[in-house]
Amino acid sequence: MNYQYDYLIVGAGPFGAVFAHEAYKRGKSVLVIDRRNHVAGNLYCESKDGINIHVYGAHIFHTSLKHVWDYVNQFAEFNHYVNSPVANYKGEMYNLPFNMNTFSKMWNIRTPKEAEAIITEQRKAITGNPKNLEEQAISLVGTDIYEKLIKGYTEKQWGRKCTELPAFIIKRLPVRYTYDNNYFNDRYQGIPEGGYTKMIERMLEGIEVRLGVDFLVHRDEYQSIAKKIIYTGPIDEYFGYSEGSLEYRGLHFETECLEEENHQGVAVVNYTEGNIPYTRIIEHKHFEFGTQPVTYVTKEYPRDWTVGEEAYYPVNDVKNLDLYAKYVELAKQEDNVIFGGRLGEYKYYDMDKVIASSLELVKRVFII
Ligand SMILES: Cc1cc2nc3c(=O)[nH]c(=O)nc-3n(C[C@H](O)[C@H](O)[C@H](O)COP(=O)(O)OP(=O)(O)OC[C@H]3O[C@@H](n4cnc5c(N)ncnc54)[C@H](O)[C@@H]3O)c2cc1C
Repeated sequence: MNYQYDYLIVGAGPFGAVFAHEAYKRGKSVLVIDRRNHVAGNLYCESKDGINIHVYGAHIFHTSLKHVWDYVNQFAEFNHYVNSPVANYKGEMYNLPFNMNTFSKMWNIRTPKEAEAIITEQRKAITGNPKNLEEQAISLVGTDIYEKLIKGYTEKQWGRKCTELPAFIIKRLPVRYTYDNNYFNDRYQGIPEGGYTKMIERMLEGIEVRLGVDFLVHRDEYQSIAKKIIYTGPIDEYFGYSEGSLEYRGLHFETECLEEENHQGVAVVNYTEGNIPYTRIIEHKHFEFGTQPVTYVTKEYPRDWTVGEEAYYPVNDVKNLDLYAKYVELAKQEDNVIFGGRLGEYKYYDMDKVIASSLELVKRVFII
């Protein structure tokens, strides 16, 4: 067979872009296609008035994987952004993650000992094994934090009452007895200067990219264009949903431009009461310390998802994981296709983990 390329990469998100970069660096001929009209996958940012708007949801790069941090720093300089979101519960503002600033505001206390005593007392409300998410959360952090900061937010996210959600969804709820508002525990954190799109464009430098091309629509043309295909789209869609469709939670974003310099004073505000329909408001300029005279804010609404819509969070319950296992069996029969990334592997992957996974694939394929 006469192939035009060594590799066809379906999807110009981070998984595809890293693999494409590494294959090209090794002298392979590479073609990248994406059905969207831009590269960078869900990391894509649109620049308006000098502000990078995170079109598919707020993305903060954080990792403890030194090799991944070193890797991404080849393609971008990262700024010193530290994610310190705030929760708004009926107008009361609380620092996240749950830490001494949160407890001090909630109970007018000062010391870790005082906070621990209150939480320990409130946890006693649940005796025996937690039967649902509500009981599980209270048994971990007590009633006040649950009522004000977890209940409404979680119910909006899942579209179901906490008493109807299984306990296993929340395994841990980290509580920090220090005055530390840094959301992540990771060693490295930041936002690429100039935005994520630029970082991915650098990875793809020199590589042929065709945008607005859906592999599944043009299967005849692309199936045998390359020796190997790296496929980062939804695995069930690739097989025509033959075993059924995998479920996701959907999101809906509403973005507006406001004629003011600083709207909420922080990049992320979570709205934790149940009767406000959105879960968060993102003010994008704060990711890059913007000082523009205008600002862009995005309200994030969770919603049910149907096939064909943008897929956001996989529903990793037993039913869906069993279904995914069936697709893995089908995938094994596709000799020249490797499935990867968040949609190809039906997995919630942070950016650093998806890059690590792509680099692992590079190691396996090129035997290094
Ligand atoms: C709301 C939200 C917020 C997030 N925030 C963070 C965060 O703060 N920090 C963090 O580390 N991670 C975050 N993530 C995770 C991050 O988005 C993923 O790690 C990343 O997008 C995975 O990259 P990928 O290459 O696997 O997939 P994607 O980025 O989704 O790229 C896949 C690409 O394949 C293309 N494609 C699919 N099917 C086809 C087809 N048939 N033909 C052609 N092209 C196709 C798609 O158009 C897409 O561009 C967040 C995710 C969500 C949903």
